Parts: sequence; structure tokens; C-alpha cells
Amino acid sequence: MMSDTETLRDEVRAWLAEHWDADTRRAKSGGSLPDWMDQVVAAGWAVPGWPAEWWGRGLDKQSVSMIVNEFRKVGAPGAGQDRTNITANSVMQFGNDELKRKIIPEFLSGRASQCLLYSEPGAGSDLAAVRTRADFQGDHYIVTGQKVWTSGAQNADYGLLIARTDWDVPKHEGLSFFIIEMRQPGIEIRPINQITGDSHFNEVFLDGAVVPVENRVGDEGEGWKVMQTALAVERLVMGDGAGERRQGSAKNNVISLIDIARETGKINDPVARQEIAQAIAYRKLNALNMLRAKQEMAQGSASPIMSLGKLAMSRILHEDARVMTKLLGAASMLDGPTHLLAADINYRTANAYMTSIGGGTDQIQRNIIGERVLGLPRETEADRNEPFRESRAVTG
Ligand SMILES: Cc1cc2nc3c(=O)[nH]c(=O)nc-3n(C[C@H](O)[C@H](O)[C@H](O)COP(=O)(O)OP(=O)(O)OC[C@H]3O[C@@H](n4cnc5c(N)ncnc54)[C@H](O)[C@@H]3O)c2cc1C
Repeated sequence: MMSDTETLRDEVRAWLAEHWDADTRRAKSGGSLPDWMDQVVAAGWAVPGWPAEWWGRGLDKQSVSMIVNEFRKVGAPGAGQDRTNITANSVMQFGNDELKRKIIPEFLSGRASQCLLYSEPGAGSDLAAVRTRADFQGDHYIVTGQKVWTSGAQNADYGLLIARTDWDVPKHEGLSFFIIEMRQPGIEIRPINQITGDSHFNEVFLDGAVVPVENRVGDEGEGWKVMQTALAVERLVMGDGAGERRQGSAKNNVISLIDIARETGKINDPVARQEIAQAIAYRKLNALNMLRAKQEMAQGSASPIMSLGKLAMSRILHEDARVMTKLLGAASMLDGPTHLLAADINYRTANAYMTSIGGGTDQIQRNIIGERVLGLPRETEADRNEPFRESRAVTG
């Protein structure tokens, strides 16, 4: 007799065989990527761990992993977003039913995109110190302030916004979380130029921007808690290595290290081999660690183990860039279209800082690991229990 898992695996495989062409990696019905995602959502594969009334199948974490693996094997996107979709997960966990129905399908299909309106000039690592304000005006809030380092704001439909709604309580308690429409007159976006030559992030100025009350995720003052869930999903995605990919640089880093060693005649050099082996070992260890984090996430907790994964990925990306540079030797000083390998390695070296800073710096991840994984005493925070208005020179 077949087990439940085997029956489910057969069902996924049969569904994929009917709807997905593994050779061309396209939906058999044709259409756009969101059209394909609609099919995945309708079949319950997009968020299989969620209840059936909310696009899911109420499955346990092992079944979700199995489904994700089956999709991965044939190169089909869209499954297992109950782990990876930042907006959908935050709204599912804390949003009201009206917001869930309005927002989640748009995000599961990929028709809508988000940016994260968290960091400000005076609030990065100390994110609870944000001064962007959201003032309640009957059936909506008026938002005024400045955000910075906002990745993808230029193309985003919605922003996940953390803003202060109460200035007279301690800093973590006066925050609320919103989904704000980005294309509106009260929002101005200015791109920032990066050392890599890219311009992925922006300054975002909010001046009288409007967000309806039903777009508040969680209760007023509950913003910090909601954001922890959103950050945990982000760390999981970054720790998994999604942050390392670059358009036009399709190679996996480990394969690249071996390729470069071959290309530079160092494949039999014992020191080079040792360094490559160490890079592979870091990745294997991190993959195992991320499995632990994903299991905790599947059980509904915001896992601090994810901080380990994110820190490890930051170290891996820097280490890969260092070893690549060393393998290439003096040629790594070259750049431009006639020296593509050197240009790629230089890009990776500069871009490695992305994972060490974005989503919480390495030092902050170490603080989280110290406090929440190792159980060390909390870092001193003099203003933690003071009303925000009194702890800073603020005009609220
Ligand atoms: C690629 C990338 C994408 C990003 N995307 C977004 C985005 O989409 N949305 C968004 O809101 N933000 C985004 N950020 C911003 C990012 O979250 C912040 O840069 C980060 O949290 C650090 O804040 P900060 O830059 O203000 O540095 P600061 O907080 O000023 O930190 C400066 C230095 O002090 C150290 N430090 C600070 N506090 C402590 C402490 N308590 N203990 C030990 N060391 C400490 C930090 O580790 C750091 O080295 C992005 C950043 C990057 C690099």
C-alpha cells in the first residue's frame, strides 16, 4: 500500500507532467509567468502549508519540502511560497481578511512587487528608532518621513512600511506596519549609485502619502512584531544564497572556483585545492543549517538560526571573492568588456557587502546569535523603556 507521502508525490508529479514542459521550462498552456503562477496557486502548490480556505492544502513541513523539491527538479517556479514570500507571509500571519483577499493573490502570482520601507538615515541597525510618522485620520493614515536604501523602490507596486504611530511609548511599542501603494503623489523616489555601478536602491521621500486603515498589518503598535516575521523570511531567502545571484552571471560560485582553477592552471596546486574545498564545505554546512531554520519556520516560529545562515552566506560570498581573486592573480586587476572574468570577480568582491549589510549587518546577526541562540545577556539599550519622545531629540 502506498503511504500518504507517496500518494502526494505521485499527485504532484502527475500535475507537473500535465501542466509543465520540463524541456522548454514553460507552462504547456503558454501564457505569461503570472498565468503559470495562477495555475500553481489554484492547485494549492504555491502555499501548501496554509489552510485550504487560504489557497493552501494544510500540509505539514515535510510534505511542503517534497513539493518544493518536485517543482525544483523540473525547473518549475512558484511552489513553497509559504516560506519565501515576504509580503504574503506577513499579511497571512497578521493582516485582516479583507487585506489578505486583496493582496495575497497579487503577490503569489508575482503580478505585484514590493519594496521594504524600513531603514532611515537615523535608523538602520537600530530600526526601532524610525521617525517616519503615520498619523491616523479617520479611515486612513497620512505618512510623512524619509526612508533610505530601499531596494527596488523604482519598480515596486507596494511598500512594506514601518512607521511611528505613537511617540509617547517606548520605541518598539509605538510602531505600526502598513502596505502602502508606491505610485501616488505623496511619494518621491531618488536612485542611489552603488560602487558596483548598479542602482538598485533608493531614497524614498514620503510627504503626506496616504494609506487606508485596512492596509495596516496587525494592530496599531504591533508593527515591531510584524516586521520580525517579515525580516525572518528575508533572512531565510538571503541565507539560502538568493542574494548571490547576478544577472548574466549564471554560474554557481563553487563551479566557478573550480573552473577558474582549471583556467589558471592551478587545479593541481595543493593550496588552491584546499581553499576551494573549504569554500565547498562552508556551503554544505550552511545548506544543512538552513534546513534546520526552514523547519523551525514551517512550525511558525521566527527562527534565530536564520541569522546563522545569513552570517554564513555573507562569509561565503567574501571568501569566494577572495579565493577567486587569488586564483586569478595579477589579472584580477583588469576590468572591462575585454576582461570578463576579472570584471565578474571584481563585481562579486564589491557586491559581497550586500549580504553583510542588507537585512541586518553581520554585527547585528552576531548580537542576535549571542542573545537568542547562545543565551548570552542582552546588549545594553539605554532607551529601550523610555517613551520615544523623551529618549531622543524628536518632534513628534
Ligand atoms: C544591498 C542592500 C539592500 C538593502 N535594502 C534595503 C531595503 O530594501 N529596505 C530597507 O529598509 N533597508 C535596506 N537596506 C539597509 C540595511 O538594512 C541597513 O543598511 C542596515 O540595517 C544597517 O543600517 P545602517 O546602514 O543605518 O548602518 P548603522 O546601523 O548605522 O551601522 C553602522 C555600523 O555600526 C554597526 N553597529 C550598529 N549597531 C550595532 C550594535 N548594536 N552592535 C554592534 N555593531 C553595531 C553596524 O554593524 C555597522 O557596521 C539595504 C542595505 C543593503 C546593503
